[in-house]
Amino acid sequence: MTRVTLLAGGVGGAKMAEGLAALEDVELTIIGNVADDDEFHGLWISPDIDTMLYTLSGRINRDQGWGVADEGRRALDTLEELGAPVWMFLGDRDFGLHIYRSQRRHAGDRPSVITADIAERFGIKARLLLPTDDKVQTRVRTAAGWLSFQEYFVRERCAPEVLDLAYTGLADAQLTAEARAAITEAEILVIAPSNPLVSIAPILETPGLRAAIAEARAPVLGVSPLIAGQVVKGPADRMMASLGHRADALGVADLYQGLVQHFLIDNQDAALASEISALGMTPHLADIFMRDAEDKARLARHLVDIAREIIREHAA
Ligand code: GDP
Repeated sequence: MTRVTLLAGGVGGAKMAEGLAALEDVELTIIGNVADDDEFHGLWISPDIDTMLYTLSGRINRDQGWGVADEGRRALDTLEELGAPVWMFLGDRDFGLHIYRSQRRHAGDRPSVITADIAERFGIKARLLLPTDDKVQTRVRTAAGWLSFQEYFVRERCAPEVLDLAYTGLADAQLTAEARAAITEAEILVIAPSNPLVSIAPILETPGLRAAIAEARAPVLGVSPLIAGQVVKGPADRMMASLGHRADALGVADLYQGLVQHFLIDNQDAALASEISALGMTPHLADIFMRDAEDKARLARHLVDIAREIIREHAA
């Protein structure tokens, strides 16, 4: 068994996690993103963590990539009838999870422990960790002012141009002991093909996390979330461009300079390989678009094979 620790956001991250979880010779630990979290109707919602829970337990809505399959909206209809804002879609089955999490948070349980318990109850074999038990929230500055992440992402459908990002609470957040150990004890570290600015950055910038990676003996591999200068889903490309980054695999590589040693980019991006090498990172060409379960497992296998080769070379 090889211990793999994956840093991952929501949809792209969960696809990579599913692939790694399918490998029988991998013991998978995921460090997820809590900076998309917010409160709705008095309940604490963790969208990226829930995408991971729903994906790995096989209850995800495959067409959307988030939310539960076979979902209803009767609870939301009642809230709407009562005049509550319902732009954040929360399904009936989904509500059950939010009630459970919120009730335990109110009782004073650590968010990490609550997440681990849910994962276990959902029959998930991988370990799902939080980078911190503290409250960290991404804020998005647009021409209309600062928005919460979900206001930008869901209510405004990512339409406004992103002028700035801030992560409230991050500078004072405490890295969980579990996340630190998962990094220092990993044999392979992987940065998922997630949004580098709003999914990976809030994990990476948790104080102490980069230091743990620097201390770790594991090789650090990344997978580009951008293919031929485009996202598979979401606002990462436009967000990178409006914040002054190149909106392609090279732009993502630039953000991971000094951290990621091996970067998987799509075959279509072969022309970027030499510039990625110049950043001090080894590019690897592959088909990194994950359409189905087979693609996910194939990419995960490829990633682990590359990492094992690096480990072997290092030992020799
Ligand atoms: P979010 O928090 O739900 O937005 O999810 P993530 O940050 O984990 O993932 C969003 C990123 O995943 C986007 O930039 C997508 O381009 C990327 N993504 C989604 N599916 C794939 C895929 O099949 N392959 C790759 N390489 N990236 C993907």
